[in-house]
Amino acid sequence: MNDCIFCRIAAGEIPADEVYRDDAVVAFHDLDPKAPVHILVIPVRHIASVADIGDAPEEEAARLLTVCAQVARDHIRGNGYRVVTNVGPDAGQSVGHLHFHVLGGRPLGWPPG
Ligand code: AMP
Repeated sequence: MNDCIFCRIAAGEIPADEVYRDDAVVAFHDLDPKAPVHILVIPVRHIASVADIGDAPEEEAARLLTVCAQVARDHIRGNGYRVVTNVGPDAGQSVGHLHFHVLGGRPLGWPPG
């Protein structure tokens, strides 16, 4: 059994509050939101992190960013938002399946911690 939680969400095996799905990309609300709007955008196919995105077809990689922009446009009001992806333990990556955080709905400090 695949024990990757985001693979299981992508496969529909465990529920998520989905806002977008196609055959390559799924987007859903983060379970523990760090901003008023916090959506995760993931590839259906398992890719460990953006460090490995070079192995993905260009169309799949581009699609991920297109969906980030689309969910932000559909769900975030205000003057901006942030798209971020953590890679490895020093950056706080806790799920080893590529995901882009799309955060908005409040002013976001910079630089991040
Ligand atoms: P990161 O720490 O960058 O790897 O981000 C992982 C994110 O996944 C965190 O913000 C978690 O709150 C979120 N998360 C973990 N499990 C789930 C889940 N089952 N459904 C939605 N979000 C999740």
